[in-house]
Amino acid sequence: MHIIHLATELAPIAKVGGLGDVLYGLSKAVAKQGHKVEILLPKYDCIDYSQIKQLKVHRKEVTVKEGEKKYRNTIWSGELDGLQIFLVEAHGHPQDYFCQGKIYGCPNDIERFTYFCKVAVEYLRQSGVQPDILHLHDWPTALASLLYPKGKTVFTIHNLEHQGICAKEQIARLGITPDEKMEDPPRPHLVNLMRAAIECAGAVTTVSPTYEKEIQTPEEGMGLEKILAKHKKKLKGILNGIDEEYWDPEKDPLLVKRYATHKVDTPEKLKSVLLAKAENRKHVRTHFSLPQENVPLVVSITRLVTQKGPELILHAMQRTKEKGGQFILLGSNHDSKHGSGMEKEFIALQKSGSKNLALCLDKNEALAHLLFAAADMLVVPSRFEPCGLTQLIALRYGTVPIVRRTGGLADTIADIDTASTPPTQRNGFTFDHYNPEGLEWGLDRALTLWTHHPDQWHQLMLQGMQQNFTWERPATQYLSLYSQLLKYAYCPRKGISLG
Ligand code: ADP
Repeated sequence: MHIIHLATELAPIAKVGGLGDVLYGLSKAVAKQGHKVEILLPKYDCIDYSQIKQLKVHRKEVTVKEGEKKYRNTIWSGELDGLQIFLVEAHGHPQDYFCQGKIYGCPNDIERFTYFCKVAVEYLRQSGVQPDILHLHDWPTALASLLYPKGKTVFTIHNLEHQGICAKEQIARLGITPDEKMEDPPRPHLVNLMRAAIECAGAVTTVSPTYEKEIQTPEEGMGLEKILAKHKKKLKGILNGIDEEYWDPEKDPLLVKRYATHKVDTPEKLKSVLLAKAENRKHVRTHFSLPQENVPLVVSITRLVTQKGPELILHAMQRTKEKGGQFILLGSNHDSKHGSGMEKEFIALQKSGSKNLALCLDKNEALAHLLFAAADMLVVPSRFEPCGLTQLIALRYGTVPIVRRTGGLADTIADIDTASTPPTQRNGFTFDHYNPEGLEWGLDRALTLWTHHPDQWHQLMLQGMQQNFTWERPATQYLSLYSQLLKYAYCPRKGISLG
């Protein structure tokens, strides 16, 4: 099968959050199963070009019309860790759409990404490339679902919060006349690109089974619940994985001390995991000037946006301090449009004299790897969470997750005290209520177990480390969905039902 992804992020060269990880991991896993996978991205100026091999001009003169004018674009090709990538350069356009120093957050994001879609589909047309499946991701690539045959497009919702809502003229400039299937349900005079893709794509997926159900409710559907429910036959939740090579504590070049976490079946192997984690922890404590004491180290590695529960992260810091532990927050994106605006509170708390709290209000990939390895616990108190990857990475690095039971967090983390999961499959702490008491229910039990029952703590770590959240299974699920869709493409009247 030949699959082309249209995407706006790709780890590690153009990553903002989990979307970049998903593109990287899913593509590699599907390619590993013998399929041809290619990824088309904007040629941002902020890509880490040092990691791309054989970067060269692939096709010139891909011309698209915007308003009354025609603009030339160039498609570049290159290779990233065995993946074939193509980059769309809008050099002929006066706005130089992809040279804005960042991936998202420009005032003209709608224009930038809809233009990207138009050029990408035009490139496929002009070059005669006809993939079996065009796989689209979130609102920035949604427009392509209108420009490509329905039976061959998959649209994945990674986060329903951002829907690409804009004025009709912003779409009409590309020669597309917005119809009622593109209307934003609460404000029909506007276009909703996410909705358009849900209506037009051959199949719609989201990144966990629980989120698939949640988004069909008024509480979590962000205004699109009725549209999603209408299309539920072609909607499917496929849980994300993590790339087993990129997130592997045994080979991770960013760790101070590496360690193997699978098949830890003897006390000696467990001891070497504990020693290696302690060495990483020592390094991190030195880096942040935290005391080298035998107390639990709790971390949060997150975009600091409202979705991620910044008030509860702040509360977790405070509570950990009160209980005698240490807390490090690595938080990015706080200055964006969707930022929590809470950085002052974090800085004030850290400055309030506590030697056991540390902050890095930045995006730092290397530090993230080191923290996953060094920490005892990771807190993820999200308001909603389509899938969440940090809890999966934490499990692989022997760090115990404490999560709010929502979306993909509910699908991946089973509480140590739950009766609904066999004891050997429990892997962390969960809480239900989005409030300080809820968080304390999860965090306090974790801190108590760490302090008073180290053997049970190690057993919980071991259970998490043994679990398999790689991309193998999700890749197989996507491939079976692609196959179903291709059958439908030849017999559209039967309709697709993904069950
Ligand atoms: P989202 O995509 O909503 O940000 P996910 O949990 O799906 O959340 O994915 C987050 C990804 O981004 C993980 O790979 C995580 O390690 C990384 N990440 C989040 N915040 C930071 C940060 N401040 N610095 C470095 N990496 C981060």
